[in-house]
Amino acid sequence: MNIVSGIKKYATTDRLAVVCNDEKLSYSDLDRYSDIIANYISDKYEGNTPLAIYGNKDVMIIACMIGALKSKRAYVPMDVSFPEQRVMDVLDSVGPNIVFDISGKDFFYDENGQVKEEYRSYEIIDKNALMDLIARGQEGPLSNEVASENWVEGDENSYILFTSGSTGKPKGVQISAYNLDSFMRWMSPILGLDGNEKVVMDQPAYSFDLSVSQLYPGLANGATLYSLSKDVVADFKVLFEHMRESNMEVWVSTPSFVGMCLVDKEFNQDMLPKLRKMLYIGEVLPVEVARKLRERFPEVDIINGYGPTEATVGISHVVINDEHIGSDKSLPVGIPMPNCKIKIVGEDGNEVEKGQKGEIVIIGPSVSKGYYKNEEKTKEAFYLETSDPGLENESPIELADLRFRAYRTGDLGSIDETGNIRYAGRKDFQIKLNGYRIEIEDIENNLRKVENIRNAVVLPVYKNEKIAYLKAIVELELENDLGNLKNGIRIKKDLAKLIPDYMVPRNVTIIDKLPMNTNGKIDRKKLAEEL
Ligand code: AMP
Repeated sequence: MNIVSGIKKYATTDRLAVVCNDEKLSYSDLDRYSDIIANYISDKYEGNTPLAIYGNKDVMIIACMIGALKSKRAYVPMDVSFPEQRVMDVLDSVGPNIVFDISGKDFFYDENGQVKEEYRSYEIIDKNALMDLIARGQEGPLSNEVASENWVEGDENSYILFTSGSTGKPKGVQISAYNLDSFMRWMSPILGLDGNEKVVMDQPAYSFDLSVSQLYPGLANGATLYSLSKDVVADFKVLFEHMRESNMEVWVSTPSFVGMCLVDKEFNQDMLPKLRKMLYIGEVLPVEVARKLRERFPEVDIINGYGPTEATVGISHVVINDEHIGSDKSLPVGIPMPNCKIKIVGEDGNEVEKGQKGEIVIIGPSVSKGYYKNEEKTKEAFYLETSDPGLENESPIELADLRFRAYRTGDLGSIDETGNIRYAGRKDFQIKLNGYRIEIEDIENNLRKVENIRNAVVLPVYKNEKIAYLKAIVELELENDLGNLKNGIRIKKDLAKLIPDYMVPRNVTIIDKLPMNTNGKIDRKKLAEEL
């Protein structure tokens, strides 16, 4: 596993692996702490059940992740933005022995500080307990160096990342050591991570696969992750102070996040003099944002990347130039990585003519084995290619057939004359709102669980070709005279108990009867036109 051996390589130096607020973790401590964590888990529990990590940003979260990998277990990151129901859904699906609670919140505990009844089947280890374990483990058998044959390897899962699922329950994408090694080999040079001491921004939440772009190539190459927590990001004055102090050379974020930073004129190369690479993946990078970035950061490569969680973060990239910005088209999303094949298929499942639009299918070693314990959804989206994609087996182990793994993205697009992928929207109801991946049906299914709601539709509201917010149109079970505002407040409050805040529609409208089309389905088109 490249990340663990990378960490070992720098454990003999005085380099810092992570800096988060006032806390620092060196490579040497990261290596030792993760050994202690791995030995503790392996001594106590048999098998390879994944473990869960709940929190936002903390140096010890990284130690827990690496500890999991050294114990042949995948980790499941759960961000503090997950509401209780989502945490329960994930824990139910995974059934971990251990949950590392590095959130500093009282989420798992009752008013007496005891673990709540519903979480007693898991061993909950909060940060204090973890630090005690580390202190106790410094000597004795827990401090033994974990041998490499006990690390996650080959097609074994490194992490399982839960994304919004159309049924109303999240889907766990399984990413293996092999997937990640393939991703890292490609991404490290793009970010200029070459083993020299560099600082990489660590802002996207660990439950979002974009964060893997800084974590894995960063730690495998001895860089320092400069973490920006949710609380820091919430206050722009504090955020910019942190950025100034960071000395960062590499930036990874969604276009939405940098779009917010650009509102302040001071966000420029003077603020980040060492910055050389900015990577954007996860949603459309608007031309206007790229133009401003090129103006404000003349020494930086502005990189547009594309890819889904199911193919390990990203599979194509392009450095944006003046020609891209000057053209009247949207920006290309990049040339596919060398060991990956892209097929554009029409509705009949056959490849379309060169340059034509269709669904983007990704084939290659960075494609996941599928959704955790969810055969039905796996079968819908993943399959094995029958014809030889002509890709290399980069793995030292015999995993040749993994090169044939294919994932139907649900994205529409084409390949242009320069070989770049051109993204052209979605086939289904999946959207990106402020960088978050959301299945509209996930929100609708949860809305139907809210008291007194008979049926509901959620529509994205666009401004300047970008989704500005979501609007819910709701049919009540029993009419009341509370009106849109009061009903809306109650519905949004109840819905926030079921799904993350960023998925709760900003606007709720009550309607007598949702319109139906001739197929007996809700007429979304008509509703969108009316609104
Ligand atoms: P996620 O799994 O959260 O990374 O989301 C993956 C989806 O984000 C893709 O299937 C696309 O719909 C969208 N996406 C990713 N990168 C880009 C990009 N550069 N431009 C437009 N959409 C993108």
